[in-house]
Amino acid sequence: MITVFIVSAPSGSGKSTLVSEIRKIVPGLDFSVSYTTRPPRGSEHGGREYYFVSRPEFEAMVRNGDFLEYADVFGNYYGTAQRVLKNAEGNGHDLLLDIDVQGAELVKQKLPEAVRIFILPPGLQTLEWRLRNRGLDREDVIQRRLATATREIENYCKYDYILVNDRLEESVENLKAILLTERKRHSGAVGLENETELVGRAQRCRLANVQQRVQPILDSFRQGRRQENETKTGPEREAGKARR
Ligand code: ADP
Ligand code: 5GP
Repeated sequence: MITVFIVSAPSGSGKSTLVSEIRKIVPGLDFSVSYTTRPPRGSEHGGREYYFVSRPEFEAMVRNGDFLEYADVFGNYYGTAQRVLKNAEGNGHDLLLDIDVQGAELVKQKLPEAVRIFILPPGLQTLEWRLRNRGLDREDVIQRRLATATREIENYCKYDYILVNDRLEESVENLKAILLTERKRHSGAVGLENETELVGRAQRCRLANVQQRVQPILDSFRQGRRQENETKTGPEREAGKARR
């Protein structure tokens, strides 16, 4: 049986960065390329980040029952094709879906065994810094993304694992641990290198074990606070790196 992983995160948390790193080091993992009606951004290519289609094309696919799930996100349609699941099953690969909270709920209804992972930024201040530093969005879009993030993160408790993306290398290791231990649990395979360490890492990211870590992050968003209880931190450290 293959394992389906659902990854959701507020925009700017570092989901694309993490997914791209993990695809380099975890073999046998298919990444679902979604369909969307939003126009391409920056250096995005059709068929790589998304399949970019018109609204009538998307609606025709909905009528054909081509989607495992689809949702309206920020006024555009986004959907996961049924065929990606069939292909992954055919190849015996696990499947990673990068979808929003609504999509995650729909997939969970259809595939109750799917493993849900929510990526959180270390706090509001760091998220703001990352969105600005990424240099993709205008100021009004950044402000909208921050407001949306404040709503989205309240859904973290619907997920099985919470990954706080503070230091990138650490987050990649944690994500790898979740993927490999869940893959082993679902497939029943024996023998996992460094199993004790991987299981420990994955366990520390379980929803039940992250409350203390997550509370100050939630507080920073709820209070719209620019001064966070982060370690001396996120934005300062990242600003230092960006200057070098
Ligand atoms: P998302 O896909 O969630 O919208 P991105 O992967 O585009 O986010 O990341 C947003 C910005 O933050 C990018 O400029 C990326 O290089 C940077 N970033 C991602 N993860 C980290 C991290 N752990 N530490 C510092 N910067 C990060
Ligand atoms: P972006 O336009 O920034 O790439 O993505 C916006 C949001 O749409 C993100 O939260 C992303 O996870 C979500 N998304 C991308 N593809 C899909 C999909 O196929 N289904 C759903 N439900 N959401 C998606």
